[in-house]
Amino acid sequence: MPRPPTLKTTEIFASVQGEGLRQGEPTVFVRLAGCNLRCGFCDTGKAWQGGRELPVARIVDDVLRLQRGLPAAWVCLTGGEPLAQDVRPLIDALHEEGFLVQIETNGTFPPEPRADWITVSPKPPDYDVHPGFVKRAREVKLVVCRTLTLDAVRAVRTTFPAATPILLQPQSNAAWSRKKAMRILEGACRSGLGGIRLSVQLHKVYGLR
Ligand code: SF4
Repeated sequence: MPRPPTLKTTEIFASVQGEGLRQGEPTVFVRLAGCNLRCGFCDTGKAWQGGRELPVARIVDDVLRLQRGLPAAWVCLTGGEPLAQDVRPLIDALHEEGFLVQIETNGTFPPEPRADWITVSPKPPDYDVHPGFVKRAREVKLVVCRTLTLDAVRAVRTTFPAATPILLQPQSNAAWSRKKAMRILEGACRSGLGGIRLSVQLHKVYGLR
């Protein structure tokens, strides 16, 4: 008999989506363990290693329990890099319970078409993503780190359709990064790049997880 599917998981918690176009919506987060990258600005480094191998059924039970405290229509699979594991059984099980599923990914693995919303966040130094994301990403998030340049933003803008917004997200909401985001936005506007917006990590403003 095949073993029930499991996923290496760091934490499951209810909060409000603080990033991207879904900002402000109650959401249950499933943070999966492991990542293939090592970004210098990573604020979820605890998810790089470890985690507990949890049965998918147990994850769904936890999501349902948390949703009773904070009614949420959405579950966000994040990390680490959630697409480094096979998330299909979890997405199917969450859909059966009536949830919508968002995936936050660095874009280096193939996209998962079962997801209802894909947020792709290309990472330095090359900002490359799997070509499958070009049409599937609902939004693109760029962390405004020390090395982000207008040329990199231009390259990402060229990769994705004009209708896909690119959000400039200040690193840890820091003042230097907010200033830099504004400079990049001005430069983008001056050079005719459209669909680029300022963003902020709303959950940190509100003191949430
Ligand atoms: S891709 Fe995301 S989780 Fe992985 S190291 Fe970079 S910021 Fe951290």
